[in-house]
Parts: sequence; structure tokens; C-alpha cells
Amino acid sequence: MAPTKTVVLISGANRGIGRGLLSIYLSKPDHIVIAANRDPDHATSRSLLDLPSGDGSRLVIVPVDATVETDASRAIRKLHEARFIDHIDIVIANAGVATVYPRVSEVKISDLQAHLTTNVLGLVSLYQATLPLLKKSGKGRWVTIGSSAGCIENQLPLTNAAYGPSKIAAHWLTKRINAEEDDIAAFVIHPGWAQTDMGNHGANAFGMEKATVTVEDSVTGVAKVIDASTKESHGGKMWGHEGELMAW
Ligand code: NDP
Repeated sequence: MAPTKTVVLISGANRGIGRGLLSIYLSKPDHIVIAANRDPDHATSRSLLDLPSGDGSRLVIVPVDATVETDASRAIRKLHEARFIDHIDIVIANAGVATVYPRVSEVKISDLQAHLTTNVLGLVSLYQATLPLLKKSGKGRWVTIGSSAGCIENQLPLTNAAYGPSKIAAHWLTKRINAEEDDIAAFVIHPGWAQTDMGNHGANAFGMEKATVTVEDSVTGVAKVIDASTKESHGGKMWGHEGELMAW
């Protein structure tokens, strides 16, 4: 019988941190890496097919728009029925937006809503869709790519009244998931201020040329944290990309 492969699903894997994580997991042997991307036909998604894969590993790209409630469940059903995916070992909830940096006094309700829709509702839809297959893993891990921008104790001097509240809700949900499910380790990782489109856009908004952490350092660190994680050691906590425990 063929050995069971490690199955990793990453949302928003066509660029930035998601893409970096995808290339790490795809390069390992005997992995099935699922990219849950908003548009599998976009050039950024299609270019994933050129990434090197480890022995016995393969990439599957499925359409999931985080703002569409039914997308994740439809994608998981297809993975099950057409691709025979019968378990998922790691889900990395990475897709996210941070487009504006207002103060609370000036944030547009429509911007707050848009950030909550993608960063929070999209996470819940993805979790509900993947939970049955995560449970089948026996050692399932749910990883939320969170942010220090969504920390209460550790507030950054930067204004982010649309993004910050969405990330703190994502953190809360992740801690709850860990409490609700005995056999799933759920935790948050802050990837550092990474030089992605989002990270650099934020840096520009605050007068800096670029963010402070290279994408390579960020994703190498994030993957190391994930690979070392167990429910006992990591579940219900927030981690930095260098493996440091962070305060909520
Ligand atoms: P990017 O802007 O580089 O990438 C964002 C990714 O999310 C893209 O793949 C994008 O897809 C996807 N995405 C956005 N909206 C949707 C949607 N509606 N449906 C599906 N996918 C969507 O950002 P990063 O790589 O920097 O961010 C990744 C994660 O890391 C986010 O959760 C972010 O909050 C978090 N983070 C990033 C930090 C940083 O400094 N960069 C710091 C702290 C946290 P598309 O190409 O289709 O838009």
C-alpha cells in the first residue's frame, strides 16, 4: 500500500507569504499541497505549476474566494470526490487584506466590513469546510496567519482601524478552535513585517520604503514553527516567526 501523504492546504497561496509557504511544503517529499486561491486562472496562480516539487509530491489548485461563503465547502467537496483527498493534516489560513490604515475616528464602515469579510468570515468558512478532513488526520493542525496589528497588549503605533479588529477576531476564533477540538492543534503565527505587497504597502503608508523582514526569512520561520508544533506545546497560543511566544 502506498504511504499516506501529508496534505497541506494554504489559502491565498498565489503570492506573498502563502506562495512562500506553498513552495516550502511542495518541495518536501510525499506532500499534497492544496492552494486555495481566489482565481486559479490568474497568472500568479498558474505560475505555481512551475515550482519544483519533492519526490511523490503534487500541487492541486482550487478556487476559493474568501468573500464567498460557499466556495470553501464546494472546493473541499470536489477535493474529496474528484481528487480522493480523504484527510488534511495542516490548514494554513493565510488569505487576507489590509488596504487602508485609518484611525477609529475616520474608518469607513465599508472598509471595516470588507476587512472583516475576508479576514474573519473567510476564515470561519474555511474552518467549517475543512474541519471534517482535518479530524480525519488524527494530528490535524489549524494555523492562522495572524498579526501583531491585532494584539491588545502590544498595540503598534500604526493606525489600522479596519485591519486590526479583523485580526484580533481571527486570533480569538483560533484560540476557541483549539479549545473546542481535542485532536486539533490550533494556533496563530505572526509572520513578521514581511516584504510582500501587503507588507510593503503598509510600510509605504507610514513613510518607510519597505517592510522589515524578507519573505524568505518570514516563511522559513513560519514553516519551522508549524513543523515543530504539537497540540500540547503550541495549541491555543500566538507565536512569532522566530518561534517566540507572543502576548495576545
Ligand atoms: P499579500 O497581499 O502579498 O497576499 C495576500 C493573499 O491573500 C493573496 O494571495 C491574495 O489573493 C489573498 N486574498 C486576498 N483576498 C482574498 C480573497 N477574497 N479570497 C482569496 N484570497 C484572497 O499579503 P501577505 O502575503 O503579506 O499576507 C498574507 C497573510 O499574512 C495575511 O493574512 C496578512 O494579514 C498576514 N500578515 C502579513 C504581514 C506582512 O507584513 N506582510 C504581517 C502580519 C500578518 P489575490 O492575489 O487573489 O488578491
